[in-house]
Amino acid sequence: MKKILFLFITTILLVGCSNNTERSSDKEGKPLVITTTGQIADAVKEIAGDLVEVKSLMGPGVDPHLYKATQGDLQTLEEGDIIFYNGLHLEGKMSDVFEKMEKEKTVRGIGEAIPKDRILSNEENPDLADPHIWFGIEIWQIALEEITKTLIEELPDQKDTFVKNEQAYFQKLADLSDWTASRISEIPEKQRILITAHDAFHYFGNSVGLDVRGLQGISTDSEYGLKDIQNVVDFLVENNIKAVFVESSVSDKAMKAVIEGAKEKGHTIQIGGELYSDAMGAEGTEEGTYIGMYKHNVNTIVDSLK
Ligand code: ZN
Repeated sequence: MKKILFLFITTILLVGCSNNTERSSDKEGKPLVITTTGQIADAVKEIAGDLVEVKSLMGPGVDPHLYKATQGDLQTLEEGDIIFYNGLHLEGKMSDVFEKMEKEKTVRGIGEAIPKDRILSNEENPDLADPHIWFGIEIWQIALEEITKTLIEELPDQKDTFVKNEQAYFQKLADLSDWTASRISEIPEKQRILITAHDAFHYFGNSVGLDVRGLQGISTDSEYGLKDIQNVVDFLVENNIKAVFVESSVSDKAMKAVIEGAKEKGHTIQIGGELYSDAMGAEGTEEGTYIGMYKHNVNTIVDSLK
């Protein structure tokens, strides 16, 4: 009798244990989704609503090209059930971490879902992909579909909610696109030239009709030299451009050198304002959301160039 009772209790304990370890975040009842950038975290919140908990590793002002995972990040990634990252080598210093995590859980580089023929390459290094896909609203949606697909695989019972949320969000993005086109049309055609510190805005420029020039290459990892500054200065003076832009996640040193160089040639240029390129604004502010950050950029650009 004692033996049977013992077996009975052991079975209950074992069943209890296996249920608890099935999902690491079961104690809160929701799967934990970890993202690298704020842009991806914002999209997951839009598509999943409150069905998952979302944590992003990189906050405002953080440069993803140079970002290295901290001990705390590794802990967070261990705790997560699903990991979404941008891919296309944006998080260049984290590929080993993703490879390791892939053996343990669902890890998706959402940019890898975009057809290769729609990915821009670096003008100087054609072998390198341009990872700044979030600024091309149309191709960003292809990456976001990968998020929806993955969420459905993980939580099939919630499929209808994910699909409905995605459709509602894509409608908002279509409205954003229309609004942007009408704002850009306020800039005289000849002045539709955007000059920034690093090459983050080519997808944006392509989709809204702006000629984009960056001082640094595709990654902030690449060095710019005096020659690059001189080229940009010549271009600015030739085209009579009024403003250049700094970025929240890149030092403004280079842009200051450009303004100084133009001044020596008798051409006055303003800093048109700060754009959000690779990182979004502070959480809780409008610029802390994808749509808010995008609108901030468009308003800043149009108001300075028109
Ligand atoms: Zn970048």
